[in-house]
Amino acid sequence: MKIKALAALSASVAMIALASGPAQSQSKTRSISQSTAAEAAQQHPQIVEEFGGEDDAARSAYVRSVGAKVAAQTNITGGANAFRITTLNSPVMNAFAVPGGYLYVTRQLVGLMNDEAELASVLGHEAGHIAAQHSKERQRAGLLSQILAVGAALVTGSSQIGQLASTVTQGMFLSYSRKQELEADDLGVRYITAAGYDPMASASFLGSLGAATSLEARAAGRDDERSTPSWARTHPLSADRVTRATKQAQATRRTGGLRNRDQFLAQIDGVMVDDDPKQGVIDGRTFSHPDLKLRFTVPDGYGMQNGARAVSIVGQRGQAQFLGGAFNGDLSTYMAAAFRAVVGENAQVNASQPRSTTVNGIPAAYSTARVATQQGQVDLTIFAYQWDSNSAYHFALVAPAGSGLGPFTSMVQSVGRLSASEAAAIRPRVIDVVTVGRTDTVQTLANRMAYNDLKVERFRVLNGLAANANVTPGQKVKLVVFGSR
Ligand SMILES: [Zn+2]
Repeated sequence: MKIKALAALSASVAMIALASGPAQSQSKTRSISQSTAAEAAQQHPQIVEEFGGEDDAARSAYVRSVGAKVAAQTNITGGANAFRITTLNSPVMNAFAVPGGYLYVTRQLVGLMNDEAELASVLGHEAGHIAAQHSKERQRAGLLSQILAVGAALVTGSSQIGQLASTVTQGMFLSYSRKQELEADDLGVRYITAAGYDPMASASFLGSLGAATSLEARAAGRDDERSTPSWARTHPLSADRVTRATKQAQATRRTGGLRNRDQFLAQIDGVMVDDDPKQGVIDGRTFSHPDLKLRFTVPDGYGMQNGARAVSIVGQRGQAQFLGGAFNGDLSTYMAAAFRAVVGENAQVNASQPRSTTVNGIPAAYSTARVATQQGQVDLTIFAYQWDSNSAYHFALVAPAGSGLGPFTSMVQSVGRLSASEAAAIRPRVIDVVTVGRTDTVQTLANRMAYNDLKVERFRVLNGLAANANVTPGQKVKLVVFGSR
């Protein structure tokens, strides 16, 4: 049985190669250089930490096993063994590949998928970026966009602002050209077909992703940085990608193939979607942390990204990070350490004398320093809050020279405490796989979705249902419900 199946697979690989014309990237094997792999291995812990840690172990293992089937179809020497696949506990809808064979997918993106073949298609697309060596061109372009994007924040010797820069430009430095995207899509279709999956899964998932992108934009409003899922930003999405993926699937002359829907749904039942309350939640422009019982609101038009160590805030006229640090009871010492963390241990900072104030009843202090960067001078302000006798938090704010707090005055004043009941009201959202009952309709199921708005639209997008599609009794569907903490 097994040998026969393998023979059939290699026949289909050959056929696809013929059907899609010469594919030089597939005709010879490539190996990932040891130095590239070592670099990826070194970056790996930082990426995992920045994206909220690894997802649940059992689910990660399942994703890895699906990825291995797809990775085995690439032209990379070592096949699946040359890849390392990680599921990230991140509310950002994203998947990306790091040169060196490291593939990442977030739980938020996995939650949008409807079967194993769709998961395979995303991992196949990412493996395609590695196989076609898109990273080589990307790194060059990436470095430039990184520099342009962070502009003033490139403080020489900076550690923290350097971190901030890498966090906020993740999207940019991971972006590919349209041509590379299409090539990765094509390779993805080829790999999943060779692995025995339904070649149409790429098109169906790209369709879901397009629908999710529009819906998020509608739900969040256009000024919200998060309104465009990162996956769409890093892998530019267009209707013609769906059309093209459909054509590529048809060119395989394979109809059907594995979908493994039930196995997939069983694996993702209970997966968290949106923010993990343990890391704090972003709701519009407000960040709330139920465990720290803390909240603040960013300026209109500014985007937020919740990382492992800090919340990064970025907008037109400045950028900031909110984080904590070691606190011995003395706010001046705390602030001096915060400055050093930004500019580096050895750099000289002429910060103004800290000024004390009170924000919503919380003792606070702030100080500004003029800092030279590669792009000229900026104002770096540390605004620190003495939260209790054992803990302090602060903003590190970068704004144009001479503007002090710049656009962030309202933000530093918005820091306040959450009441116990406000904190308790913040619960995680999780995927709940349910079986459609005899009296269920799209409407009755959508009513159970844990959102205040667009319930029907969210239910349809989550389940890949077209605007006029109905549900059938006995069918399994996904809901998003409130989980417990
Ligand atoms: Zn891509």
